Amino acid sequence: MPEQTHLTGLTEPELIAFAGNLGEPHYRGRQIFGALQHRRLRSFDEMTDLPLAFRAKLAERATAATLTLESRYVSEDGTRRYLMKTHDNLPVETVFIPEERRDTICFSSQSGCPLQCTFCLTAQLGLLRSLDAGEIVEQIIFALNDAYGPGVKTPRGVNLVGMGAGEPFLNFEPLLKALRIMADPQGLFIVPNRVTISTAGVVPRIRELATIADRPHLAISLAAPTDELRNELMPINKRWPLEELLAACKEFEKSLKPSERFTFEYVMLDGINDSDEQARQLANLLNRHALRAKVNLIPHNAADPLPYFPSPPERVESFKTILESKGVHAFVRQPRGRDIYAACGQLAARREKLILPQLKQDRNAVIPG
Ligand code: SAH
Repeated sequence: MPEQTHLTGLTEPELIAFAGNLGEPHYRGRQIFGALQHRRLRSFDEMTDLPLAFRAKLAERATAATLTLESRYVSEDGTRRYLMKTHDNLPVETVFIPEERRDTICFSSQSGCPLQCTFCLTAQLGLLRSLDAGEIVEQIIFALNDAYGPGVKTPRGVNLVGMGAGEPFLNFEPLLKALRIMADPQGLFIVPNRVTISTAGVVPRIRELATIADRPHLAISLAAPTDELRNELMPINKRWPLEELLAACKEFEKSLKPSERFTFEYVMLDGINDSDEQARQLANLLNRHALRAKVNLIPHNAADPLPYFPSPPERVESFKTILESKGVHAFVRQPRGRDIYAACGQLAARREKLILPQLKQDRNAVIPG
């Protein structure tokens, strides 16, 4: 069978050209784009406004959807995690996070991840492969359909975060293409201003992102205030150490809009990176570069068998107070979906729910002995 084209990964002009190659007029391409991206259909059979013969021709050469759902987990807090698989049987995870004002979808850029951050479960998978643009867009279509109903207009704004499995900046072109497709007003119409991409610190791509007019927001995972500790926790730091990373951030800062800031994420690991001294080092580091940034403090999410624990709440508070006393904006991020392995650093294609200590106790209570 000839290689099938995944139409969800094509822009509208590309779909018009695709239809043209099949001897069809331009409007057919636009029609398919609308069916996939606006009506969020996932099969040609559902595109009943296309002639039957054309649908048959499409089905021979192309696919409307390639991801299949393996499991769906719903957290006590309403967060949903979808474990899907690609046509070549690799795991892809996406998380839907309902929020008061708007909902957030966290998508993956790769299956697995090549970076070896010691505190992150995804690292244990290694890199399986990068996802293509269609596989990125499809995650969002899938989550929207599950949350609101197939094709149903989203009741309020949706934000996207590229904070799932993988390092987005090691899959840069497909990522940008996916963002272009999703921004199309004839399709999903989720503009880059609603998107935040997180990187572990791929310096050349941070500099490149700054040159893109219609770019998403940027978040950078820091995890340590010194090279010594960061080398240990995030080996990517050996390739691009803190001074180089922050110099790139300084460059990126020039592209910020007046009210925009970029974000540093700082996972808080009990006894490792959460002391008052380390808070002062972090504040001094950011102040030395005079960066227009804020820091999100993320208490570590359980990642058994990794040897880490979350910093206790009073430690997080003390860390935050020190940052603020030195003029650094700091926020504590509330973890979502921890019980279903949907929180930051927990995406590792787990096929079970997490037994929270609370639940464990309950269980012990009913098991004699
Ligand atoms: N590779 C990119 C995208 C992943 S974002 C990056 O590193 O930025 C995932 C975020 O979760 C990162 O900020 C990471 O530092 C954080 N994280 C990883 N493992 C975690 C864990 N177990 N608990 C809390 N945060 C974690």
